[in-house]
Amino acid sequence: MAIVEPLPPTEDGHRRLALRNTATREPVGELTVNTAEDVAEALSRARAAQKKWAKVPIAERAKIVSGAIDLLVKYREEVIEMICQDTGKTHTDALMVEVIASLDFLTHYCARAVRDLSDEPVKPHGFFRALKKFIMHYRPLGVVGVITPWNGPFALAINPSVQALLAGNAVLLKPSEVAPHSGDWAARLFHEAGVPRDLMQVLHGDGETGAALVQAGVDKISFTGSVGTGKKIAAACAEQLIPCTLELGGKDAMIVCADADLERAAGGAVFASVFNSGHVCMGVERIYVVESVADEFERLVEEKIRSLRMGAKGERDVGALFWDRQLSTIERHIEDARAKGAEIVLGGEAVINGGIFYPPTLVRKVDHSMALMKDETFGPIVSIMRVKDEQEAIQLANDSEYGLSGSVWTKNNEKGIELAKQMETGSVLINDASMSYGVLEVPFGGMKDSGLGQVNGARSLRSYAFAQPIGIDKRTPKTEPHWYPHDAKTTRDLDGMVKLVYGSFLKKLRFFTG
Ligand code: NAD
Repeated sequence: MAIVEPLPPTEDGHRRLALRNTATREPVGELTVNTAEDVAEALSRARAAQKKWAKVPIAERAKIVSGAIDLLVKYREEVIEMICQDTGKTHTDALMVEVIASLDFLTHYCARAVRDLSDEPVKPHGFFRALKKFIMHYRPLGVVGVITPWNGPFALAINPSVQALLAGNAVLLKPSEVAPHSGDWAARLFHEAGVPRDLMQVLHGDGETGAALVQAGVDKISFTGSVGTGKKIAAACAEQLIPCTLELGGKDAMIVCADADLERAAGGAVFASVFNSGHVCMGVERIYVVESVADEFERLVEEKIRSLRMGAKGERDVGALFWDRQLSTIERHIEDARAKGAEIVLGGEAVINGGIFYPPTLVRKVDHSMALMKDETFGPIVSIMRVKDEQEAIQLANDSEYGLSGSVWTKNNEKGIELAKQMETGSVLINDASMSYGVLEVPFGGMKDSGLGQVNGARSLRSYAFAQPIGIDKRTPKTEPHWYPHDAKTTRDLDGMVKLVYGSFLKKLRFFTG
């Protein structure tokens, strides 16, 4: 769905935006933009609700929140229809990357909430162990602002929201103004499950509302979106000393080694470049194939692309482009590549037919002088560059301002791991691509311009809490040897401790070294 024109404001002065379906271009309603005052009011309601929610035992929070799982299963067709309306995605893409992914996020985090968020004892190291014991308390942060993009509008709203709620926070969600209904559905599922309305609120609007949310006095921002916006948010959060995670754009490289299973590599290359119309942050955007197998790899890729079906309805593999803004980027990159000598083997021309469609496009003979190999294209383009060997592939893969994820395709896992370690990316897959965000046991995040901080992974729920150590004395004498007064005996005792603890055989004991 794209904003096509601003409408006259409402009687009480709120801006309004008209929306159209991307596939049919039909008007599909309008959006009233929330102001900074609306954000402030929502924040004050959220603060009150959060204070009560923080007192709800973690197991009870998880029980309530997990109600959203059954509700999403129940409403899945309605949710898919809404996502397809808002984004032009195919039913399969919406089911796969939005609904199934969201069910998995909800199930996984609800199941591990008690284990990850309950108070836990910590044994201090060395001589502290004899004196103190500690409890780690995972204290909710307060109110978390979640700001989401248009390309995965439902799943990327559910994932941070469920984690923030389980950790005892309130959520103010600002969905993308061009795919707004996913935010409403995410909130509806949580509300129907029993999450208090003020604990999970949706604020609609564009960058102005997003900026107001960042400045409103929330306790953390979870942002997914473009590099440009991410940098503004990082600066605003730094100014207020609040934490943020930034999940930003990518230009993921795929390295096809000489010993790759070419059938699998070609299938993976086409899928990971084209699914979700190429609007995937961790989608494959650049392929480096070793010269000796390039002919066969390109033949297989071409064969697979030829078999893809594109359209607005019925059985199809590829849906519409999200909006005209993406079309201009794709066209600019393709024209620049063509002008610099690339060969457009398949596709390369938009089809405007009740929506904006761009056929899966195969481009050969690309190089790093072209925007297609440097900037995020975010379209269904398979760009292949031949390299003499794997080391050249690594060097080119790392020649990027982005560093989200990458992949290595080889039958030799050990070699794959060695090459993976040389890639300057947040994660690497061997013989697969574009799926590490879904493996919730491991952290996901970008290096370089692709982000700041990581999401998911073993510590993810705790990143929505403040780890507050609480120390308790094992013994409580009237005074301590290092308290005042400091005299010659104090110095002697401390020095004696240096000799005993760090200067004798005792230092070798685990008790003293931790
Ligand atoms: P965008 O940055 O234009 O917008 C993202 C969100 O930020 C929207 O809700 C928007 O209204 C809001 N926003 C805009 N200006 C703001 C401001 N000044 N302050 C606060 N909020 C503001 O991004 P987009 O075009 O919606 O999303 C596409 C981008 O997101 C791509 O670059 C894609 O790679 C990236 N992305 C990254 C991941 C990841 O996990 N790394 C996942 C999905 C998408």
